[in-house]
Amino acid sequence: MTSTAQEWHLVARPVGIPGAGDFRLVERELPGPGDGEVLVRNTYLSMDPYMRALMGADVEADIPPYELDRPMTGGAVGRVVESRAAGLAPGDLVLSDLGWRTAAVAGAGYFTRLQWAEGVPDSAFLGVLGMPGLSAYVGLTEIAGLREGETVFVSGAAGAVGGVAGQIARLRGAKAVIGSAGSDAKAEYLTSELGFTAAFNYKDGSVREQVSRAAPAGIDVYFDNVGGDHLEAAIDVLNPHGRVALCGAISGYNATESPPGPRNMADVIKKRLTLRGFEVGDHAALRPRFVDEMSSWLVDNRITFRETVEHGIGNAVNAFLGLMSGRNTGKMLVRV
Ligand code: NDP
Repeated sequence: MTSTAQEWHLVARPVGIPGAGDFRLVERELPGPGDGEVLVRNTYLSMDPYMRALMGADVEADIPPYELDRPMTGGAVGRVVESRAAGLAPGDLVLSDLGWRTAAVAGAGYFTRLQWAEGVPDSAFLGVLGMPGLSAYVGLTEIAGLREGETVFVSGAAGAVGGVAGQIARLRGAKAVIGSAGSDAKAEYLTSELGFTAAFNYKDGSVREQVSRAAPAGIDVYFDNVGGDHLEAAIDVLNPHGRVALCGAISGYNATESPPGPRNMADVIKKRLTLRGFEVGDHAALRPRFVDEMSSWLVDNRITFRETVEHGIGNAVNAFLGLMSGRNTGKMLVRV
């Protein structure tokens, strides 16, 4: 039996901030599943900053760029509608990388069957229990090696990764957790709902001055989602032997020229700092431990999260642009 799907294609490689004309919503007939295949209807699509890189033409990136005039990919959760594959049955909740579309027919190997967890919405598998949550966990524990009693600074703190990183820092015994975000409302959310010790709106003035004010004795760990002036400020404020988990550098993702590097790299030497980048995909082996720990934190209400949900496949590009300009608090999703 055939069915219809709507899917977003990239039709031009954006220069600077992407525009609506770089994308096209295409409707097409899907064939019925063949042997070993399933038909899945997506319920939530993940919007992620890394997708901006895939819209470019960097053939040396870990993940190949999006092909023009082909459906874009990305995280999605959905339900199996029809199955001709062993191990997947209609109604099963699955995770895939076949996002930016309402439905897909593909081999069972493209989908991971998810264990429904009581009290946890399906969408959480794209956020707090998914790739962003694992990134926060890996960055803080494995990359930065957070120790009890340390002071932590998290940028992009009201986003999907940052909000989880700050809460894990608190649960792992940090003395103080400082967050930066792009509005007063987000800063307020960090202290009142996520348990950050202090937070500031980076648009209010110098990041360096605001971190110093919040952490007069300096910071020991910096979880970087932003790069640019945030990274430079953190290098200034880090204590000797401080560590930085370089997770993202979103302040430069739409840049048309290479952003300037931190001007204080000599301090990295003087203070014996460690700056270490990571890709969450290299740390899949930690997923079972992460899922166990995160599930129990969620059940015990020790970790909380928000989602920003745009409705309808037609709003996916809008949601992506909103993510890049800070319209989200917590994970940015599209409900289809
Ligand atoms: P978020 O949910 O944090 O959404 C992006 C946020 O970035 C926006 O809400 C906005 O918040 C902020 N932002 C946008 N432009 C700027 C800017 N110029 N300066 C400061 N902040 C800005 O996204 P994620 O949690 O999914 O990702 C966070 C970071 O982690 C990204 O850099 C991403 O690339 C990276 N990442 C890296 C992974 C890895 O394996 N290394 C895996 C997953 C994510 P605001 O209102 O505060 O400006």
